[in-house]
Amino acid sequence: MRKFNEQKIVLASHNKGKIGEITALLEPLGIVCVSAAELNLAEPEETEATFSGNARIKAHFAAKASGLPALSDDSGISVDALDGEPGVYTADWAETENGRDFNLAMTKVWKKLEAVKAPFPRYAQFNCTLCLAWPDGHDEVFSGVASGEVIWPMRGQHGFGFDPIFQPTGYDLTFAEMQPMEKQPLTHRANAFHKLVTYCFE
Ligand code: IMP
Repeated sequence: MRKFNEQKIVLASHNKGKIGEITALLEPLGIVCVSAAELNLAEPEETEATFSGNARIKAHFAAKASGLPALSDDSGISVDALDGEPGVYTADWAETENGRDFNLAMTKVWKKLEAVKAPFPRYAQFNCTLCLAWPDGHDEVFSGVASGEVIWPMRGQHGFGFDPIFQPTGYDLTFAEMQPMEKQPLTHRANAFHKLVTYCFE
C-alpha cells in the first residue's frame, strides 16, 4: 500500500454533499482539500458497472488533470427487494431534462417497492468506494457499507441525495433527520474512509 505523504489533495467530485462530508473527514488530518468543482475540472463519464470501476475513473481523471493526488467517491443505494437497484445507477435515477431531482428518484424507489409488494422492513444498503489516485497512475481503493431500511414518506431536511428515505439500522431517524456530525460516523463513506486512513495515512 502506498502512503499519502503530500499536503494537498483534490476531491474528485462536483457533488456538494459528498465534498462536505469528505472534507470534514480529512480536516482532522491537516490535509488541504480542493474540489474538482473549484478547479473547474470536467466530469468524466462513469462508464463502468461497478462502484470501484467508476471511482477509479473519477480519481485518475482528476489526478491527471490537476497533477495532484485525487480522492474520488462512487456511491449509491442498493435496495434488497429491487435486486440491488438502483445501485451504481443511483444518480441516474434522479436525472431529468432540468438536472437532478432526488425527490423524483426517491418516489421512483418507493413506487417500485409498492409495485412488487415488498415485505417490511425494506432493507437497503448504501455503498461507497473511495479511490485515492496519484498522477503517476498508482491507486488504492477502499469500500464501505451502511445498512438500514427504506422508509416512506421522506423525512428530514439535512444531508443530500437519498438521505430522507434511509433509516440506518438501530436508529429511528433518517440520515436527513440527523445533524451532519450525527450522520457522519454512521455512513458508508466514513466506513470506507477509516480503511483508507488505516492503510494510507497512518
Ligand atoms: P455517484 O457516486 O456520483 O454515481 O452518485 C451517487 C449518488 O448516490 C449520489 O448522487 C446520491 O444521490 C447517492 N448517495 C451517495 N451517498 C449518499 C449519502 O450519503 N446520502 C444520500 N445519498 C447518497
